[in-house]
Amino acid sequence: MELPFAESWKIKMVEPIRKSTREERLQWIKEAHYNVFQLKAEQVYIDCITDSGTGAMSDRQWAAMMMGDESYAGASSFFRLKDTITRITGFKYVIPTHQGRAAENVLFSYLVKAGDIIPGNSHFDTTKGHIESRKAIALDCTIDEAKDTQLEIPFKGNVSPEKLEKALAENAAKIPFIIVTITNNTAGGQPVSMENLRQVRAIADKYKKPVIFDSARFAENAYFIKTREKGYENKTIKEIVKEMFSLADGMTMSAKKDAIVNMGGFIATNKQEWYDGAKTFCIPFEGYLTYGGMNGRDMDALAVGLDENTEFDNLETRIKQVEYLAKRLDEYGIPYQRPAGGHAIFVDADKILTNVPKEEFPAQALTVHLYLEAGIRGCEIGYLLADRDPVTRENRFNGLDLLRLAIPRRVYTNNHMDVIAAALKNVYDRRESIRRGVKIVWEAELMRHFTVQLEPLEPLK
Ligand SMILES: *Cc1c(COP(=O)(O)O)cnc(C)c1O
Repeated sequence: MELPFAESWKIKMVEPIRKSTREERLQWIKEAHYNVFQLKAEQVYIDCITDSGTGAMSDRQWAAMMMGDESYAGASSFFRLKDTITRITGFKYVIPTHQGRAAENVLFSYLVKAGDIIPGNSHFDTTKGHIESRKAIALDCTIDEAKDTQLEIPFKGNVSPEKLEKALAENAAKIPFIIVTITNNTAGGQPVSMENLRQVRAIADKYKKPVIFDSARFAENAYFIKTREKGYENKTIKEIVKEMFSLADGMTMSAKKDAIVNMGGFIATNKQEWYDGAKTFCIPFEGYLTYGGMNGRDMDALAVGLDENTEFDNLETRIKQVEYLAKRLDEYGIPYQRPAGGHAIFVDADKILTNVPKEEFPAQALTVHLYLEAGIRGCEIGYLLADRDPVTRENRFNGLDLLRLAIPRRVYTNNHMDVIAAALKNVYDRRESIRRGVKIVWEAELMRHFTVQLEPLEPLK
């Protein structure tokens, strides 16, 4: 008989988690103004709010922390990190930063000017924020297929070559670089194919423009290339990663994702001019060049994490867990962005809470119901997150309305996935009885979902 699949690690340390009663959760979610960001973590049983910084480090990463060199300048931890990044990505200039958005801040301070246009595939919200706050435009050139949640195609995160070419043909002078997010987080953790990365490179070369990869989940992207793209089945993840980065001029990285550390990030490039330009912003914003925003010990853990998570077994364990949850949802007929992404399942709330009008934020209502059901914390990626139109101040209802269940790396077992799926099924089975959503009682002007205060429009029990 064929042996079943199992994790490529065993557990050495555990952290107790606690269940709660529905009565407790009703009280807690009320105190949190029906916004799961305002819950205390101890009020959560299974936490799927994000996969960012929530992974479990390995024994090797913890051991590496003991070797951290905390020298202010020239720490050996920095050189170990730099050498690892150069070996894995091929980039020789490295600037450590405290997280991904800090890498964006430092590099974009040098590269982005008012009036610029930055084309890419569904810019991540902080990436977009760093572009828009400099009065530049983040132009989304993702393929249209990404919007159809039920369509199954292998590389749903791709850049549309036609849209990109059009942007360059019309506005080349205003475009300082192209940015490709791997995997495409906003489109549902969907990968970008090597073929597409090559197409982007060719268009960039034609117009003599550099390319940056927003690389938070580059290793998961490489796993999908290996398992889905012809010609890559026999290549190692590290070979694929090298080939991917050979098509870029530089990268920004949130190490909280695919480097499996709790905090950290970096910029890497082969362009000396970018390094020289960015380093003048690193020093005032982040710190001296050989630590950026990081402790020596954290740079060591990051280096080991990068190495471990560019190995097939580790990635296979991770992606198969996300697929496992997806299969459970398939059994129950619960709709989500297909195929399952690398780091999360994006449940299509609009297709579930069909009685709840858009104006009452169905995905947020579903997030609250799932929390009440079993203490599971997901995250709305929908109309609340979309914020208001900056000009008209109207809510933006033109995108997708999703409940994201992000899976932390190496943290939960498939038993936890079964609990998540069963809780969601219970809510799904009574979806017809859920008729009302939530209303906003207080909101911030930008990125309102973190702090918004809500009230339910029908009694919750
Ligand atoms: C998380 C993330 C960022 C920002 O990184 P932080 O470490 O959260 O600051 C940027 N881009 C993508 C694609 C991300 O997933």
